[in-house]
Amino acid sequence: MRNLYLRKTTAAEIDEQVRKVLKGLGNPRPPLRLSDVRELLKLDRQYYSKDADGILRETISRLKVAGKQILRRPALLLEAIRKAELKALYVPDRKIILIDQTEPEIKQRWNESHEVIHSLLEWHGPVMLGDDKLTLNLVCHDQIEAEANYGAGRLLFLQGEFERVARDSKCTLEEIRAIGGAFGNSITSTLWRFVELMLEPALGVVSQHPRYTDGKFDPNDPCRYFIRSSAFLGRFSNVDETAAFALLRSKSNWRKYGPIADDEVVLRDDNGESHVFQLDAFHNHHETLAVFVYKRALSKKVAVAAGLEISAK
Ligand SMILES: [Zn+2]
Repeated sequence: MRNLYLRKTTAAEIDEQVRKVLKGLGNPRPPLRLSDVRELLKLDRQYYSKDADGILRETISRLKVAGKQILRRPALLLEAIRKAELKALYVPDRKIILIDQTEPEIKQRWNESHEVIHSLLEWHGPVMLGDDKLTLNLVCHDQIEAEANYGAGRLLFLQGEFERVARDSKCTLEEIRAIGGAFGNSITSTLWRFVELMLEPALGVVSQHPRYTDGKFDPNDPCRYFIRSSAFLGRFSNVDETAAFALLRSKSNWRKYGPIADDEVVLRDDNGESHVFQLDAFHNHHETLAVFVYKRALSKKVAVAAGLEISAK
C-alpha cells in the first residue's frame, strides 16, 4: 500500500474536526486516551471476533434487536466483515464502533481511531448506512479509507504536538520508536507520519525480512507499506517498491531481531542524477521497518567510478 496525499481542502476539513475533538478534551498531553474521545463523542465500543463466528453473529443480532432494527439486512454486514476481513467498522445509526478483538491491542487502537474519524466525517456516513447498497467496494473505497487514516493519524498524534516533537528529531528508527512510545502508538504508524512530515526526500518501507522471503512473499509487491515524503514523490517517482526492496535486501544482514541495516545507499532521481541516502532498517520478529533519508547529491565522477549508477533501478 502506498501513502496518498489528500487534497489540501479535504485535509483541512478533517483537521478541523480533529481540532474540535482535541479542544473538547482540553488539548490533552500524549498519549491520547480513546475512552475520553468516546465519552466526548458519545460513541459506544463493542468487540467481535472474526475467528469466532458465534460472537460475530451475536454482535450483529444484538445491534439488530437493540431498539428498532438498525440494519435492514444484517446478513450483508456479516458477509462484508468476513469477506473484506474487516478489522473494525462503524455503525452510524447506533454510534457504535465494532472492533475485532483478535487484532493486537496497538492495532485495535489505530482501528478504533480510524472508525472515530468515519463517525466525524459527515460524508462518510452513507457508506456504512447503505443497507442494500452496502457493498465491499464502498466499504473499501480507497479515498474514504485514506481520509480516515489521515484523520486517525492526526488524532492519535495530537496534530501539532507530533509535528513539534518530530521536527526536532532525526528520522532514525530509534527516535521514531521513542516518539511512538510517548504517544502510545505503534512504530509503524509513527514511521508513516514521520516520513510524510519530512521536508526532504524520505522513504519508509514496511516489509517482510528482506533476507527471509518465504511464505506469502510476493516479489512483484514486496512492500506492505511504501511511504514517500512529498519531496521524494516529486523527485524520485521512478523508485518503486521492487527497486527499494532490492536495495534494502542488498544492505541487510540475516539477524532475526534488531537493526539489520545501517548504511549509505545511492538512488537515482527522475533526471538520472545520483543521490546518497541514509538507510536504517530494523526487524522486530514480525516485520522489517526501513527508512531512507536524503543526505547529499553524489558527484557524477564519484558515482561512475564507484559503479553506483545502477543501484537505484
Ligand atoms: Zn474505514
